[in-house]
Amino acid sequence: MRALIVDGKPRFEENRHDPVPAEGEAVVRVHLAGICATDLHIINGYMNFSGVLGHEMVGTVVSGSPKWKGKRVVCEINCVCRKCDMCLGGLAWHCRRRTVMGIAGRDGCFADFVAVPEHNLHAVPDSVADEEAVFVEPLAAAYQVLTQCPIDTRMNVSVVGTGRLGLLIVQVLAQTGCKLTAVGRNTQKLLMCEKRGVQGIKVEDLVPRNDRDLVVECTGSPDGLNIAMQLVRPRGTIVLKSTYADLIPRSPNLAPIVVNEIKLVGSRCGPFPEAINALARKAVEVRPLISRTFPLEEAATALDAARKPENIKVLLRVSKSVCETSLSLQGHRR
Ligand SMILES: [Zn+2]
Ligand SMILES: [Zn+2]
Repeated sequence: MRALIVDGKPRFEENRHDPVPAEGEAVVRVHLAGICATDLHIINGYMNFSGVLGHEMVGTVVSGSPKWKGKRVVCEINCVCRKCDMCLGGLAWHCRRRTVMGIAGRDGCFADFVAVPEHNLHAVPDSVADEEAVFVEPLAAAYQVLTQCPIDTRMNVSVVGTGRLGLLIVQVLAQTGCKLTAVGRNTQKLLMCEKRGVQGIKVEDLVPRNDRDLVVECTGSPDGLNIAMQLVRPRGTIVLKSTYADLIPRSPNLAPIVVNEIKLVGSRCGPFPEAINALARKAVEVRPLISRTFPLEEAATALDAARKPENIKVLLRVSKSVCETSLSLQGHRR
């Protein structure tokens, strides 16, 4: 199969071996895959990953149990043991033996096929197109903010960072009816927030007033935490979404966290059912976030495009249509 491999640096392979599903796993033919900041960090050495890159996708199950075969699916990325103390304690996402699709110990989805545990699959309703379903994984990560920090209408909330994830978080938090502002550098992206009724503020116009009840930091840069600390009120909450692993360590001064008794909440993956449901009822609009779509063979170019600040979401088109999927189903040896 074709695949985008990372081993030190990214390269496209024409003849990568097909995935071999373990017990309880299905093989999914990928239709469309999304590039996220984590992929760009991995290329720069984050997680020391080698293998097929990619963890955001929609596809069709081509081999697996009858329950799933032929279904259009999205896939949770954490593959867990169901036996360790975290799994047994209801915290399976923090499984001590987990592998993570395209991130840790398991091949990802920038390829024709990917093997995934059937436990991780979610069916995509017909009302949700591939171009929307490919956003389920990052949209679920956006919903995780609400899972961790309930938000009500009286709250003063800011999202710092209006990139791919920030623009999803803004839409999710806007549904709560809270007083929401979005802080960013890019005028065009701030205008997208204003279109959803969310006030956009340019970083340079920001007046640090320490008056927000909750600040979500998703800039991907350590400066974001500094801004968040200037915005949040004493005893308020900062939700951290960024991982800065590949950046030169410029450790921010964390004294305000202590002095102002700030609650710092780390936030990673989120609930798929909420994300699928939001797309099905058109509560979140993701198509305007698609800046470019490249064929899988041009994955390296696509990754470069995803780095450019003017681009929001960059997608990889892996297989074209249902027709093509059923043809390859016959050709697939399992
Ligand atoms: Zn991601
Ligand atoms: Zn476990």
